[in-house]
Amino acid sequence: ELSVYRYGDKRADGTREMKNLLGGKGANLAEMSRIGIPVPPGFTITTEVCTLYTQEGKEAVLKKIEIEVREAIAAIEESMGTTFGDPQNPLLLSVRSGARVSMPGMMDTVLNLGLGEQTLEGIIKKTGNERFAWDSYRRFIQMYSGVVMGLKPETKQDLDPFEEIIDHLKDKRNIRHDTEFTVQDLKDLVYDFKDIVRKRTGKEFPTDPWEQLWGAVFAVFNSWNGDRAVYYRKMNGYPEHWGTAVNVQAMVYGNMGTDSGTGVCFTRDAATGENKFNGEYLINAQGEDVVAGVRTPQQITRHGSEQWAKLAQVSESDRRENFPSLEELMPDIYKELFEYQQKLETHYLDMQDMEFTIQKGKLWILQTRNGKRTGSAMVKIAMDMLREGSIDRETALLRIDPAKLEELLHPVFDPAAIKEAQVIAQGLPASPGAATGQIVFFADEAGKFKNSILVRVETSPEDLEGMHLARGFVTARGGMTSHAAVVARGMGKCCVSGAGALKIDYANRILRVGDHEYHEGDWISINGTTGNILEGKVATREPELSGEFAELMELSDTFARMEVRANADNPTDARVARNFGARGIGLARTEHMFFEVDRIKAMREMILADTVKGRRQALKELLPMQQKDFEGIFRAMEGLPVTIRLLDPPLHEFVPHQLATQKELAEDLHISLDAVKSKVAELEEFNPMLGHRGCRLGNTYPEITEMQTRAILQAALALKVEGIETRPEIMVPLVGTVEEFVQQKAIIDQTAAEVFRQRKDSVEYSVGTMVEVPRAALLADKIAEHADFFSFGTNDLTQMTFGYSRDDSGKFLPVYLEKGILPADPFEKLDQEGVGLLVRMGTELGRRGRPGIKTGICGEHGGEPTSVEFCHRTGLDYVSCSPFRVPIARVAAAQAVL
Ligand code: PEP
Ligand code: MG
Repeated sequence: ELSVYRYGDKRADGTREMKNLLGGKGANLAEMSRIGIPVPPGFTITTEVCTLYTQEGKEAVLKKIEIEVREAIAAIEESMGTTFGDPQNPLLLSVRSGARVSMPGMMDTVLNLGLGEQTLEGIIKKTGNERFAWDSYRRFIQMYSGVVMGLKPETKQDLDPFEEIIDHLKDKRNIRHDTEFTVQDLKDLVYDFKDIVRKRTGKEFPTDPWEQLWGAVFAVFNSWNGDRAVYYRKMNGYPEHWGTAVNVQAMVYGNMGTDSGTGVCFTRDAATGENKFNGEYLINAQGEDVVAGVRTPQQITRHGSEQWAKLAQVSESDRRENFPSLEELMPDIYKELFEYQQKLETHYLDMQDMEFTIQKGKLWILQTRNGKRTGSAMVKIAMDMLREGSIDRETALLRIDPAKLEELLHPVFDPAAIKEAQVIAQGLPASPGAATGQIVFFADEAGKFKNSILVRVETSPEDLEGMHLARGFVTARGGMTSHAAVVARGMGKCCVSGAGALKIDYANRILRVGDHEYHEGDWISINGTTGNILEGKVATREPELSGEFAELMELSDTFARMEVRANADNPTDARVARNFGARGIGLARTEHMFFEVDRIKAMREMILADTVKGRRQALKELLPMQQKDFEGIFRAMEGLPVTIRLLDPPLHEFVPHQLATQKELAEDLHISLDAVKSKVAELEEFNPMLGHRGCRLGNTYPEITEMQTRAILQAALALKVEGIETRPEIMVPLVGTVEEFVQQKAIIDQTAAEVFRQRKDSVEYSVGTMVEVPRAALLADKIAEHADFFSFGTNDLTQMTFGYSRDDSGKFLPVYLEKGILPADPFEKLDQEGVGLLVRMGTELGRRGRPGIKTGICGEHGGEPTSVEFCHRTGLDYVSCSPFRVPIARVAAAQAVL
């Protein structure tokens, strides 16, 4: 049995199925080599060796694998025509960790292993590039000392010791960039680096390549039990016994002259999903140079290059001379690359994101993985591949990350407004969408405005945190694979990159384009679909859900068992929800309507009234307004069920708490300020969420229930006259005892009978309850004897099951999440274990009390994919969520079946 699996020369010991043994990276490299892709030769030390190391230590490992490793190195040497440690013609290696799942940031990589003062001479001779050799060497010392020798900043505040030396030298030489270092500078750095290693670790930096190699291998194994990895494993529930593999691979260089280069490419367009091979490359460059956005990368295909030139306003002759495509510059390499990308996509049956390097005219593929993509690309690629016949319907559905659909539901620019808008400049359409905001120049200031657009020469990983807060990004440099572009697509934000006309003056916070100046705080709009940067705020409108998106929705509906409804309490939201495919309204909260100016007065009058008569008087004023509200919603939801919930929040939410407004109210109602004040004080509660709210209101003030029932049914009757079908469902909130519900239902039925008698007409209606007090779930069979339906209000049910106030949990939940006391925020992701148990019990008992009782969920969880999946398993009939999450819930409901 092997401990070391080799790959290279289009052969491999392993396969992609061996992820547990070889780690994800190792299995993938083996697979690529096996199917004839030229990957730099190398080998993988298995995860089992890692376990052996943990259990029995270094000596046992050396005994087991030393011979195999030496043989594997010999094989690499033969394949590359170089020798490990040979001063004339040295083999250099990379060493990387690789667990069975990707664990980003768990362990740094060591590159250029094998470099030393002697091999350095060989590299200089081979490449004729002294600067490159010394720069590689100083980088190697930095990486190796940090990763293997543990030379890290001593406290969090300390700078990296090597960076400190670098900064010091830059100051001394009065230069700003690493690229400005001379060969002598780099030699000085190497000397100083070695010196600090000696001082800080008491050891010499190793010059023997074998010592370097074993050092790196054991450092990778150690990293499996390092703080970062242990934390990451705990967070994700990965067991210790998995272990990590170690990947050792020959280094190849894209910066060995004009016959070398490096690039990234995608088998399809990661922004739009179009089936077009595309990518970027740089001649005589290293991998980081392409993503760092320091040099303008060139397009791989000729077509892409021509399109780029148009956007960048580069003339055709300039393009051909200075920015030719790989297709034009190195047609043979291009042809080879094109074949490999086809082969890889056909093999992995998904869009691939590949990295390649050309070393002295030879193409190497360094990596392939399923490419990150925007929400719209995700949908298009899945539906296209389904149509092409390469994947089946189930696979297509499972390719969709429901949460990512949200991007497609964002507004787009209004075509009319866009025509009017002033174009400031054009860049590359790096990540589609529309964004409007105020200019900020620094990522850590993105929170300065509610809507900000980050404008930079380029972005870097340090900007990541701030980028979350911006609406979109604009960069003056960099291509479609620049940091900003890749991050934007991942975050689902809009991005225009490489807008060369922008001159950014960070010091004065000014963006200059030609004669125009834009300052921090100025509004701009960016169109990530066309690459246009526009002046001012440009109007947006709702997106249209057509094409592949519509196909996906249809496909989802053929699989889903549960229906998806929406939480909406006005006609506009109801219409949006219906456009998104909602099959009705699962929760119309009636209290929001009372906050409108013309109503709040009548509402307050009702609350301030001391007598039933006074309350009835005020409610009479509210009745026609409520009826109008319901008519609007019913109309928007013609033919579909609409669940209307009776008044729920504590009354004190409606009365004024400020002196000025209290005075106004007193004047309006012709009562004394003191009377208002004392009523407000009377309504004050210690725990309003557990106080006088929900059906406790309806049971103490039945006239409220009467008025609302009347408004609902009169609205339904009014529409019936117009020939519009309605399906009203009246829902009682916060029920905890059978009698609470029974008495409310009696009032509803009596009122209904009265309305039907008065109007000499009737409509069908049903009466059900929310299940949001744990006691209701425990006694669901008894309640179900009287209720037509149950709707689990998991917001309150979570609040009351955990005993966490919905309004105050912000103080401790973040700490709980950080400490791992809770795996997730239970108000966001349904706690399936505890709250979910009540939902299951409630459903089962409910069906016992009334076979076939309709059940649904209307808490915020109704649009959260993992919770939707739980609802499916629990057998609920529907989920109800906010309008914009309806498509997400539809896909999640379908995936739940698969
Ligand atoms: C709930 O409690 O889950 C619910 C939907 O009602 P609200 O959020 O209005 O309390
Ligand atoms: Mg509730």
